[in-house]
Amino acid sequence: MKLQFLGGAREVGRSAVLVDDALLLDFGLKTADPPQYPVGSLRSGPAADAEAVVVSHGHLDHAGAVPALLSGDRRPTVHWTPPTRELALTLARDTLKLHGGTPRCPFTEEDVRRLTEVSETHGYREPFEAAGHRVEFFDAGHIPGSAHVLVDDSEVRSTSSSRTGSDDTEVRSTSSSRTRSDSGDTRLLYTGDFHAGGRGQRLVPSSTARPEADVVVTESTYADVDHEPREAVEERFVESVRSTLWEGGTVVVPAFAIGRTQEMMLVCAANDIDCYVDGMGVEVTRRLRRHPEFLRDADAMSRAVSNARFVGGRDGQRKRIADQSTVIITTAGMLSGGPAMTYVPEIHANPVNKLCFSGYQVEGTPGREVLDTGAAEIGDHHLRVSATVEAYDFSAHADREGLLEFLDAYRDTPLLINHGDSCAWFADELEARGHDARAPELGDVVEV
Ligand SMILES: [Zn+2]
Repeated sequence: MKLQFLGGAREVGRSAVLVDDALLLDFGLKTADPPQYPVGSLRSGPAADAEAVVVSHGHLDHAGAVPALLSGDRRPTVHWTPPTRELALTLARDTLKLHGGTPRCPFTEEDVRRLTEVSETHGYREPFEAAGHRVEFFDAGHIPGSAHVLVDDSEVRSTSSSRTGSDDTEVRSTSSSRTRSDSGDTRLLYTGDFHAGGRGQRLVPSSTARPEADVVVTESTYADVDHEPREAVEERFVESVRSTLWEGGTVVVPAFAIGRTQEMMLVCAANDIDCYVDGMGVEVTRRLRRHPEFLRDADAMSRAVSNARFVGGRDGQRKRIADQSTVIITTAGMLSGGPAMTYVPEIHANPVNKLCFSGYQVEGTPGREVLDTGAAEIGDHHLRVSATVEAYDFSAHADREGLLEFLDAYRDTPLLINHGDSCAWFADELEARGHDARAPELGDVVEV
């Protein structure tokens, strides 16, 4: 099996791995200025001829550039779970709204429409065929619909070839037209993003899937971080929010639209804390509720929706809400846009108020600026924030311990480390622990 790392190698964002020149695993977009796409020309690069795309989950860095694969005459089949399809379409429409018709957007409305024509949805543990490979999804415990992807290059060949031959190898090599690699008979596990170990999130349970594989490509986002146990994070958050509400203050909780907004709604509902919800997370919540079988507890989600008040989108209304002693869960999670641009200026000057980040703040974002310096450009304002600023890590990724525990199931399996800021360091560490591990670089071709 031939793997080509077109994105997400020793970096986070624009994930893309091309298998046997035919099957793409993820095709993400990295939010930068300008946005970055997997390497190689979208028109003539290695990804352009892909017959099929398998998408691990509906986050921008894994699904954000998929519509670009449908420009011109190309119509690769796109395989994903039903929630991933919904989320990817939501993201694509949002990207069009933000950047459509500019060089910052590599696809058109027409490409996004075509996405619905080439889409095939699959549940967990329902094997399917894609570009001459047998593929199967396993619950990754990251966001609703997120999947580990198991790619097997032997199954389709053995089923598409006659099974009457006494020498199976002989039959395969002579009668299969879909053989693309001489190495053959390889099962690749591609993790996408996952959460393993501990209680997991309220939205989705931790992944327990450890499918057998001959090679594993694993994310390593938090390879150098030990997360505080989820229960402790939640307890601290709830106590902090309650104390602010008792004092009559307002709490703004910046949250990513996909996954984190719903998780924070569930946390509020479980602890009897009223909240408002604003931004793209409102639409995402509505879409995710169409797929209750992909939620940990659909009843809890219904209660969380009843507990929350969704905001309609007028700034006058937002200013009135910000004057109340309440909790406001809003995009953007790193203060780079969205209704947070209205709420934060409204609450920033009063030390009784609070700004509670709910996830990691990437270097260079306004959220990180506020955390590090207490001041940032928020929308059109330069704000020195007097409100109390706190950070809680409600992460949807495995931490160091979760990664090591997961990889322990693959002691004798070669590991390829990607999707992280310290992939090479983590690969060295795994080597020292007795694993066979390395961190491919961007553009690398690896035969496995
Ligand atoms: Zn993700």
